[in-house]
Amino acid sequence: MVLRAVSPIIAFAAAAAISGCDTVRVSNAFSNSGLLVDGGLNNGSVVNDRRRTRDGDGVVSVNVGRLRSASAPGRNEAVAFGMNRAATRAAAGWSSGRDTVDLRLGDPIPIGVTIWIVQGPFDAQRSHAFTTCLQTLGIWFWERTGFLLNNCDMRDATRDPDITNAILNSVGGDNRNWNDFSTLIGFDAGRINIYWINTVEGATTTGWSDFGGRIVMGRNTGLELLVHEIGHGFSLFHPVSCGGATATWDDTNIMAPCSSTREFVTEGQNFRMHFNPDSSVNALYGARPGAPTEDCRNVGETAACPAVERRLWDDGAFLAN
Ligand SMILES: [Zn+2]
Repeated sequence: MVLRAVSPIIAFAAAAAISGCDTVRVSNAFSNSGLLVDGGLNNGSVVNDRRRTRDGDGVVSVNVGRLRSASAPGRNEAVAFGMNRAATRAAAGWSSGRDTVDLRLGDPIPIGVTIWIVQGPFDAQRSHAFTTCLQTLGIWFWERTGFLLNNCDMRDATRDPDITNAILNSVGGDNRNWNDFSTLIGFDAGRINIYWINTVEGATTTGWSDFGGRIVMGRNTGLELLVHEIGHGFSLFHPVSCGGATATWDDTNIMAPCSSTREFVTEGQNFRMHFNPDSSVNALYGARPGAPTEDCRNVGETAACPAVERRLWDDGAFLAN
């Protein structure tokens, strides 16, 4: 009985040693890393976004199974995510033998924003804005986005004589009076400018993004709203409608439209923030010069784009998928 139980394990180990598994050697790892791996199988089928995660610092070797070259439209690459590291893609030349692919995770990407306190009292609103920045920094860190909010530059615009009622009570959705903010108050080029005003769409708890360099925030916005609005600037959309939940989304995701409990970022979202060409990470900050982009903005799961709801790690109730 004992021999019969053990022998399949020995046989499996022997087979793995002979055939050899492919390895992605992730360097610059900190705490934990994850991979979405593309390639092909011996039978000609395509592997899209095979999931692997591994804990460890420095150089971490990840067994990704036995892969060989996939023909188009299949791809041969690995995308890596990691704690306090920027997502990185690398081509992988899978052969029929045992391959090792080296992939260096990106250093954290510093992001600075300018915050214009338009509606006072200045000290109270500056404190509110600063705490909101800390919340954004924390969510970005724990959710392995690789973004580092290293600079929330505060400007006192409370005595600006150009401020109008239209600014303090801004309405109009995407077509609001954006230019009033940037021309009458001020605008730091190459950064996201955040205007802290009284009400947005008639509510003190609402914020809005122009999907680029401008965000308006109401006086009493939740501390987790800024990470949502910057998410729009980084090319993300709402995955569900207001108050909605589905099999893969609920109010705990940063892009939930009506929530006070935003905290999680999927790797599908993280991929888009880093690699969509119109994400402010690329279009405004130019933070990944020379790095290839991939337009996954209105795209579901393809060979190039992971599904928006792909997760390498659990997000609360939603398990890695
Ligand atoms: Zn939104």
